[in-house]
Amino acid sequence: MRMPDKKGYFGDFGGRFIPETLSFCLRELEESYFKFKKDKRSLRELDFYLKEYAGRPTPLYFAGKLSEYLGIKVYLKREDLLHTGAHKINNTLGQIFLARHMGKKRIIAETGAGQHGVATATVAARFGFKCDVYMGEEDMRRQKTNVFKMEILGANVFPVRSGSKTLKDACNEAIRDWVTNVKDTYYLLGSVVGPHPYPLIVRDFQSVIGKEARSQIIKKENRLPDYLVACVGGGSNAIGLFHPFFDDKKVKNIGVEAGGLGLSSLNCASLIKGKVGILHGAKSFLLQDEFGQIKATHSIAAGLDYPGVGPEHSFYKRIKKACYVAVSDKEALHGFKMLSKLEGIIPALEPSHALYYLKKIAKKNKGSLVILCLSGRGDKDLDIVREKRGKIKDKDKG
Ligand SMILES: *Cc1c(COP(=O)(O)O)cnc(C)c1O
Repeated sequence: MRMPDKKGYFGDFGGRFIPETLSFCLRELEESYFKFKKDKRSLRELDFYLKEYAGRPTPLYFAGKLSEYLGIKVYLKREDLLHTGAHKINNTLGQIFLARHMGKKRIIAETGAGQHGVATATVAARFGFKCDVYMGEEDMRRQKTNVFKMEILGANVFPVRSGSKTLKDACNEAIRDWVTNVKDTYYLLGSVVGPHPYPLIVRDFQSVIGKEARSQIIKKENRLPDYLVACVGGGSNAIGLFHPFFDDKKVKNIGVEAGGLGLSSLNCASLIKGKVGILHGAKSFLLQDEFGQIKATHSIAAGLDYPGVGPEHSFYKRIKKACYVAVSDKEALHGFKMLSKLEGIIPALEPSHALYYLKKIAKKNKGSLVILCLSGRGDKDLDIVREKRGKIKDKDKG
């Protein structure tokens, strides 16, 4: 059984729920992608850039001090060491080669934390594409440095002022642009979300994480891990890690979602609190109110601030292939400090959620072998951490 099926379904999830105007764009993309996958020359060249430009393979680092502290054996898949500071470059490099293969001249993208925008602007610069990025105004405020980086790289950043002024609103704008300009424009999507074939394309390009990790852990430990742990925004770093282990029945997958302000308000955890619905062209779990309207999310990590999750994760949840949990802002900050202090590695706030969850695994299953996807580094988040720490200190005083 190959997933997704011909119509882009992972079990009941995924598919293509789109206006007629988009169906040409997506059919063209799908056909081109299957041709691209047989284009040996392009694939060899992509491999070269993943290695020499992005910095693959990334180490699978045994975090000895963290392991000793927790009482479990933790390996970190070091996507934080990649060019532009996160796993996003795996996908943007892959898709820029696909765009070139399709003969497109212009790239558009949406971005939340700005990481995907930077990774897109980076490859657009390198391969000579015009690049326009849509970003929510609120996210632009939170991630000023990334906005500046995109501009330095030659991209235009358009502020989106509708709705909650975050990622989902930026997605809407990008789709509007694509429908109007599809002839010369490639829409470079940032995660395993959206209509078929995007969840498939992004998963394939991110699977390099799990492929490497699987052979690395076998070399180092001579066995498969007990757990794979990754944070889930749209779900691309997580599915990239999980997918190559799909047939390994004993490996347990854990996806860590953002719980926002606390466990009583699980307001970002689509897979825990969400209902099945349709967002941005695919059927999946998403956060909606009693009238089926999409709910605004809140998380300390802009990259996890998305009301939906990729359809393949909904499928994993349904067949119990993965378990999904939520970690709050405060707990994520704890994870952030723990890795910084113990290992001298400052993580992004997104994987800090996953890092915190290691404590829960350690409590129940001492001695287990864990691979955690360290999806990005923390430089982009330092202002947010400083601001939060200030608030917590003020509270202690008062
Ligand atoms: C964007 C981002 C995420 C969330 O995206 P996924 O598609 O869920 O992987 C996680 N970590 C970092 C560092 C990011 O930049």
